[in-house]
Formats: sequence, structure tokens, C-alpha cells
Amino acid sequence: MLALAAGVLVAIVAGLVTGLEWGLTALSAILLGLVLYHLREVARLKRWLEHGATPEPPRAHGTWDELHAVLQRSRRESARREAELAHIVERWRQAARALPDGVVILDGKRIAWCNDRAREHLEIDPARDLGNAITHLVRIPEFLAYLESGDYARPIQVKPPHADRELSLQAIAYGDDQRLVLSRDISQFRKVEQVRREFVANVSHELRTPLTVISGFLETLREEKDPQAAQRYIELMSEQARRMERLVEDLLTLSALESSPPPPLEQPIEMAKLVDRLAAEARALSSGRHHIEVEADEGIELMGSERELSSAFGNLVSNAIRYTPQGGRVRLAWHRTADGASFDVEDTGIGIAPEHVPRLTERFYRVDRGRSREAGGTGLGLAIVKHALARHGGELDIASTPGRGSRFSARFSGPRVRT
Ligand code: ADP
Repeated sequence: MLALAAGVLVAIVAGLVTGLEWGLTALSAILLGLVLYHLREVARLKRWLEHGATPEPPRAHGTWDELHAVLQRSRRESARREAELAHIVERWRQAARALPDGVVILDGKRIAWCNDRAREHLEIDPARDLGNAITHLVRIPEFLAYLESGDYARPIQVKPPHADRELSLQAIAYGDDQRLVLSRDISQFRKVEQVRREFVANVSHELRTPLTVISGFLETLREEKDPQAAQRYIELMSEQARRMERLVEDLLTLSALESSPPPPLEQPIEMAKLVDRLAAEARALSSGRHHIEVEADEGIELMGSERELSSAFGNLVSNAIRYTPQGGRVRLAWHRTADGASFDVEDTGIGIAPEHVPRLTERFYRVDRGRSREAGGTGLGLAIVKHALARHGGELDIASTPGRGSRFSARFSGPRVRT
């Protein structure tokens, strides 16, 4: 504006001094110069807007400078908003990627996006399959029929061919012909369910056997006239009742271990006294039939629940006595190890064949069912030991040779051991 006014002024002065003709010529030249200048600025601005690799606009003067500043501000603002949106989208993607469940977004039948877990579950390759129809890629007929049905009120459970897993798949319809497919691996859940079913069946079986014996003897007792025979039946019945009692006690111990809060971290267990008490228990159980040795290192502290560990160690000791024939040796030792401490129970008993060792801590697993029952076992002792140790950051290590003997070591490391 200022340049135009100055130009017109110059033209008027030139006109007054040199005549109208020269004045008009000067005005035209000035106007032409101005037009050329603005055209150049427009071209520079266009270039910057179209290919502006440089963050700063081209240098300019006056109104052009102000216009550049305004454009520059709005450019920066939209770049900031774009970055913010990209960041939000990326965060959502990361969250969806980190989900333990598979997620697939379908646009009609086409796969618009999927996370890594879905790729693993449904064998989709995002690099190759995005944009392709899910019906051509996923070879699970039940799932395809489910997608086709449009009834997504409930998830379906499927076993994909060639995969050793079971999946729960749920579709959710949204937007305009879009669907979200969620996949979850339920193999672990199925396994837990199976273990629970087996456990209930085992408990029922274990309780039914003594109950059948007791009710059988009760029937016989009704008719029995001989007091001596009756006395014998009563003794046999109380033996079965004691067996049931032991089983219920062990079940309650297991359930308490599974449901109670973690043992205290700041409560030291008096290990020397505990080992002495366990040795006394071993002697009482053995009634002089075994040679019992005890060894306890001083000054090693173990933090936790004395009641839980006493029951766990007691199980190891009673097993050693029960599975070691008369004249054998049982040795209890509480000692330091490279990374903590260990309570070992070693015996010169019947030993265990290697194929049984990994399964010994399973509930009701016994190498010899009859022998365990005869020895008054419930089949839950080592399961209790495993649980109690795990609650104290410990592990059970078993070394055994059939016919030579076994060593059960409760090993502890970490913050619960202070040596
Ligand atoms: P149980 O009540 O049958 O003894 P446990 O869970 O305590 O149940 O032990 C599981 C099985 O491990 C036993 O049935 C037995 O076969 C084997 N076992 C445990 N301790 C010993 C041991 N010291 N020597 C030999 N076998 C053992």
C-alpha cells in the first residue's frame, strides 16, 4: 500500500515537472514493477506451500511478511496437531498390540488391522494379508460360519487345525459394516478345568474307599454276636476313619496354603528349634527302627511362617521314615548353600525310579498306591511341601536312586534367607 502511494506520488511529481506524458509513463512503470513484485511473491509463496521443505517461509516485506507469519503459524499448529494425533494413534496401537488377547479389525470381510497375538492365533500375516478377505485366510470353518451368521451374542470355542491350542473367538459389530474380532487362548483354562475335575474325582474316590469299608463293617457288626470279632471290626473302622481324617486335614492344609495371604517377610523362624522338633518327630515315628542323624548350621535365619514350613518339613521327614525299611538311616540337615540355605532329608530307603520324580508333587500321585496307603499316606504330602516352599521363595529338589535311597532338599534363596 505504502509502495503504491509512494509510486503514485513519484508519478505525480514527475508529471508536474516533466509533463503529463512522462508522468503517465512513470506511473505505468511503477505499477508494472509493483505487479511483477507481487507476482514474484505469489510464486515464491506457492513454491513454499507446495514443496516447503524448509520450516521457515521465504523472506518478504510488508503485507507479504505478515501473510507469511500467519501462514507459518497455522502450518506449525496443524503440524503440532498432526503429530499429536499420530502419537495418540500410535499409543492406541501399542496398547492394542500389548493386549494379551488377539484383536482383528474387519472392514466388511477385509482385514483392516490386527495385533501380533491375533496373527499368532489366527495365522494371519499383517505384511501380506492386510486388505484381504478374512474368509480366504482363516481356515477355521466354525469361525467363518460364526462370522457369516451375524449372531455375536456369545463367543465360540474352536480348536484351529494344526495348532495345539483352544481359542475363544468373539466378534463385535460396530460402525458401518465393521467388526472387531477378539481371540483368546483358553488352553490353560481348559487344563486347569481338567485338573480340577480330576482333583474332585480323586478326592471322591479317596473318601469313598474308607467309607465303603466302614459301612460294610457296620452292616456286619449288626449281625455280629462275638464281642472279640466286633472289637476287631471297630478297630478296622477307626483305622479307616483316621485315614479319612488325615485326608481331610491335608485337603484343608492345601486349601489354606492356596488361599491365605503370603507368609510374613519379617518373622524369623527358629530353625534350630524346628530341626530339633522334627528330629524328635522322626524318632517317635521310627520307634527305634532307623538310625537318625541331625545337623544344623547356626546363624542362618529364614523368614516366614513356622507353621507352614514345619508341616512341609514334617511331611519330608515322615516320608523318609515311611519309605525306609527297618535298619536304614535318615539324616536331617539345615545348612548354607551358594545362594541361600537348604533343609535336606536324606534316607537310605526304597528310592524312586527317575520317570516318577517329576510327577511326585502332583496331588494324589503315588509311585505305589498300595504301599502309600499301607504306610498311611494321603498322596498329598509333597503337593503341600511344594506349595509351602513356593510361598517362601523355595523349591523342592529331589535326587533318588531306586533301592539306594533319596534326598529331598527344600532350597531357599532371596530375601527370606539371612545368612
Ligand atoms: P504319600 O502320602 O503317598 O506319601 P506324598 O505326596 O508324600 O504322598 O509322596 C508321593 C509319593 O512319592 C509317595 O507315594 C511315594 O511313592 C513317593 N515318595 C515320597 N517320599 C519318598 C521317599 N522318601 N522315598 C521313596 N519314595 C518316596
